Amino acid sequence: MISGMKIETQCLHSGYEPGNGEPRALPIYQSTTYTYDSTEHIGKLFDLTAAGHLYSRISNPTVECVEKKIAALEGGVGALLTASGQAALMIALMNILQAGDHVLASSTIYGGTFNLFGVTLKKYGIESTFVDLDLSLEELQKFVKPNTRAVFGETIANPAITVLDIEKIAALAHRNGIPLLVDNTFATPILCRPKEFGADIVIHSTSKYMDGHAVQLGGAIVDVGTFDWNNGKFPGLSEPDESYHGVVYTKSFGNAAYITKARVQLMRDLGACPTAMGAFLLNLGLETMPVRMERHCRNAERVAEFLEKNPKVEFVKYPRLASSPYKSLAGKYLPDGTSGVIAFSIRGGRENAVRFMDSLKLASNVVHVADIRTCVLHPASATHRQMTDEQLIAAGVTPGLIRLSVGLENIDDILDDISQALERV
Ligand SMILES: *Cc1c(COP(=O)(O)O)cnc(C)c1O
Repeated sequence: MISGMKIETQCLHSGYEPGNGEPRALPIYQSTTYTYDSTEHIGKLFDLTAAGHLYSRISNPTVECVEKKIAALEGGVGALLTASGQAALMIALMNILQAGDHVLASSTIYGGTFNLFGVTLKKYGIESTFVDLDLSLEELQKFVKPNTRAVFGETIANPAITVLDIEKIAALAHRNGIPLLVDNTFATPILCRPKEFGADIVIHSTSKYMDGHAVQLGGAIVDVGTFDWNNGKFPGLSEPDESYHGVVYTKSFGNAAYITKARVQLMRDLGACPTAMGAFLLNLGLETMPVRMERHCRNAERVAEFLEKNPKVEFVKYPRLASSPYKSLAGKYLPDGTSGVIAFSIRGGRENAVRFMDSLKLASNVVHVADIRTCVLHPASATHRQMTDEQLIAAGVTPGLIRLSVGLENIDDILDDISQALERV
């Protein structure tokens, strides 16, 4: 009944459909373990020949409902929830990469993901090249190596607020027989569904707009089910897995091979699983996400226009602005709005940026973004402080850049606060 319905309806009803006399709200199954009638059935679960819950590290009924909802919102064949966005990225990448492989990643990505590629995966023999994905297809092709196994970018980059040309990058990936992985955290499936433009795997930090209330961390991986893993480049999916008696994921699980492997192999071994309570809270956020996103976008557009007119402001990065170089990409990929996140720079660099931030009364100075409450961050002294000046500039982060996440307060109060803080600069 739910499939085929509009996204607002899916946010409320997908994933959990109670039967006669069952709870209307999603129940919290606070159990690590499950009981069975026979030892034989447990054996089948371990062989992946029967479906069912085995242990809450691998799956849990509450978590499963939320996974189904997020899969539906992104148009995927399956989803896996994780303990955090970073855990989702780690599992999504390790699911297809091994020592000796190479990844092409956008240079404008979240600081945590930049470290995952540049520090941790590197230690395990996975090399990454960070490139400006705004380059032409022909220029980008030069960065693809024989061992490149994935291309990675963010729909709306955090905090550079660049917009990914998903169709172009998907074409680059597919002509080389590799998948495009897109971090869709800032856009949410309300504003953009990367599958519609050719992305193969969609990743979220659900800690941001999906949860929306800054109450719990989480991540999600969605398999849109369209990539063919049988081209010899992904032996982990197309060759036998000895830890499951030689199961071949592409044979046994068809177009859900990737997401099944992520769960039964990577989540089994790495253990970065969500909790039932966390999934329950995330579900509350998902239910109101369409309404919140609409208001976040509307408030942020007003703030971006206001900032752009102020002489103390050097520049504003918000793809909806007529002045934005991403205006036309935003029109194509994010027609209903580009989220509540704005980046801007105050004249006078780092010193004035800090003075502005410390003068705000309503907006809170936090290491968070995409919250119902307006908040600000100075990336150069927080999330991106490990980067060199050169890396900062490549990531679209100048020393005076402020990331402003516009919340759901009354727009007049938000503008008053910004204006009084600007007066102190
Ligand atoms: C926050 C964020 C992450 C990391 O997610 P956590 O839930 O904090 O681990 C990854 N990607 C983007 C775009 C983010 O904004």
